[in-house]
Amino acid sequence: MTQNILLEKKTLWVALAGNPNSGKTTVFNALTNLRQKVGNYPGVTVEKKIGRMVFVGKTVVNILDLPGTYSLAVRSPDEEVARDVLLGNRSDTPRPDLVVCVVDASNLERNLYLASQIQDLGVPIVVALNMMDTALRQGKEINRARLQEVLGVPVVATVASREQGIEKLKQVIAGAPRVSSVRSWRLPSGMEEEIEKLVDVLGQERSLSRTAAFSEALILMTKEEVLPKQLSLGEQRIQEYIHLIRKNLSAAGINWRSAAIEARYNWIQNILKDVIHKNTETRISFTDRLDNILTHKVWGWIFFVGLMSLMFFTIFSVATYPMNWIGQAFAHLSDAVKNVMPTGDFRDLITDGVIAGVGGIVIFLPQILILFFFIGLLQDTGYMARAAFIMDRVMSKAGLHGKSFIPLLSSFACAIPGIMATRSIESSKDRLVTILIAPLMSCSARLPVYTVLIATLIPGASAYQKAGIILSMYALGVVGAFGVAVILKKTLFKRQTPVLIMELPPYRWPSFKSVVLQMRERSFLFLKKAGTVIFALSIILWALMAYPKHDSAHPTENLRNSFAGMAGRTLEPIIKPLGYDWRIGIGLIGSFTAREVFVSTMNIVFNVEGPKDETQPLREAFARARWPDGKRLFTPLVCVSLMVFYVFAMQCMSTVAVVRRETNGWRWPIFQIVYMTTLAYLMSFLVFQGGRLLGWQ
Ligand code: GDP
Ligand code: MG
Repeated sequence: MTQNILLEKKTLWVALAGNPNSGKTTVFNALTNLRQKVGNYPGVTVEKKIGRMVFVGKTVVNILDLPGTYSLAVRSPDEEVARDVLLGNRSDTPRPDLVVCVVDASNLERNLYLASQIQDLGVPIVVALNMMDTALRQGKEINRARLQEVLGVPVVATVASREQGIEKLKQVIAGAPRVSSVRSWRLPSGMEEEIEKLVDVLGQERSLSRTAAFSEALILMTKEEVLPKQLSLGEQRIQEYIHLIRKNLSAAGINWRSAAIEARYNWIQNILKDVIHKNTETRISFTDRLDNILTHKVWGWIFFVGLMSLMFFTIFSVATYPMNWIGQAFAHLSDAVKNVMPTGDFRDLITDGVIAGVGGIVIFLPQILILFFFIGLLQDTGYMARAAFIMDRVMSKAGLHGKSFIPLLSSFACAIPGIMATRSIESSKDRLVTILIAPLMSCSARLPVYTVLIATLIPGASAYQKAGIILSMYALGVVGAFGVAVILKKTLFKRQTPVLIMELPPYRWPSFKSVVLQMRERSFLFLKKAGTVIFALSIILWALMAYPKHDSAHPTENLRNSFAGMAGRTLEPIIKPLGYDWRIGIGLIGSFTAREVFVSTMNIVFNVEGPKDETQPLREAFARARWPDGKRLFTPLVCVSLMVFYVFAMQCMSTVAVVRRETNGWRWPIFQIVYMTTLAYLMSFLVFQGGRLLGWQ
């Protein structure tokens, strides 16, 4: 008996595929009840999400959320991963037994395009016809049964955000026939036969199944890629066939670039005529009416600027309260440790190194949460696409288009999600330029640096003064980014930017759950960084500043002769023209790994010098710091010069790592470090020397 039950238990792999914003993640969450694991596909930074759905006592279903794509034409890493998984070409992921294709019912034409490409791969599929509510609101009645009939695969209507149809979908997944779907559209006459030839060759040379070979053939036909010089004999044969077929097709008056795409769209349009009943009584949709205002030449801008101001205002005003609480909590912790532990190196390590280091970073969590809250909201409502649309004209002045705006805006929070978001840019050159300038957007890690320097610059500055200076730094970064983009587009990346073709998704009521989930994920990553990288760095930097021991009566002498002090003094001749001494040099070196480390490092440096047993606020320590000749170190000019340095300098190892992964090599991250550091140096030099010429301090 027991054996029988065990035999019945088996693991099934189901992949969720669909266009971005079709509701895939929502379906995924509903099916799995949030039992999920998130990671990355090895080698590429494409997110891999796996969840579990259990049918009581029977089958365990593993559900895989594929990256959202518009097609499988393999233009971006996301598309490539989706296609490879569906074809079972990835050793790290089993070939799915079933594909659930999540389709946005309010946008059927574009969504069925991907669905039909997946069908071509010959995998069994089930269509989840999602967003039925939106379609209905737009006056579209969709005949589900008829769609199921013409597609020849099970179709389930769902409203995932309200968990409607999810039970039904589960049942269909459990009971769906595992037969391969068949291609139900045809290429124009003449083309079908030509492509068949290529299918044969691909089958032989790459040992592909016929269905896989067919879809590969369509991709190869329209791909104009630079081929490696050394091709194997088999690949040469494939190339020869492609050329031959293109020639034959051209001779027959068929445009090989577009014929297959058009044929597929024609087929879809015929289906739609049959399946959608338009309710003409519905007047202009809500989305259209809203877009009349929000993408309007004047009102659109006013709304956009207002929204951005609100966002930054909230970040700088509201966040100060929780930030103060966190600061106090860490101060108490530090005091508590001082009370219970005996004086000595180990206690200094805990208080000056670890608590000052980690606490100085964690304090910025509220601002980061608010930023991600806004960005999640913008994305979830569909406004982000409008912002890109509005910004397109501005961006085109720099030779970029509106799509670059979304990654750049996200980079204000953190360059890493920003750089990942560049994947939606098809043109590889535009994508690279966007990646290269993204870290010039002032990210949240610069806030600690700006804040401390402003406090030194204007003791007791009002909230408006602070916000004003910080916003100028943001503006400086934006102007710098545009300048760099213009130069790159004129030199290394000469190419016309394609016209922006971007669909504006319908507006949606944001899902609070998904925004909160994103914020949770982000804050987790941020805290993880504070708890691991910054934690470790604080200890290392502390040790480098404490050793070798000299036990001079002057703490500054000890620091001078420590390892870190030696490094700082080596750097001093280079940074002196910017107004910095060797102690600031230690901060620059330490923060090469992450900008916020500057603050924790300075805390350690100047607390070593300060009165024993008492942690002084960093701004007071800065105000007291002197050059050997007794002149003030942190003059207003030096504070500004330092802020400007941090606007432009790369100073972030995590970004370097992401750029390396996204550009597949060290070339571009190294280029980026070099150009940004040079730019930072030059700009600070200009500020400091220029300011001195004008007689400023
Ligand atoms: P993904 O990009 O495909 O993963 O899409 P998401 O699951 O993130 O969904 C995009 C947005 O659509 C979210 O705000 C969801 O709450 C919303 N959404 C998902 N399913 C439905 C639906 O059936 N109807 C409506 N009106 N909204 C939905
Ligand atoms: Mg998603």
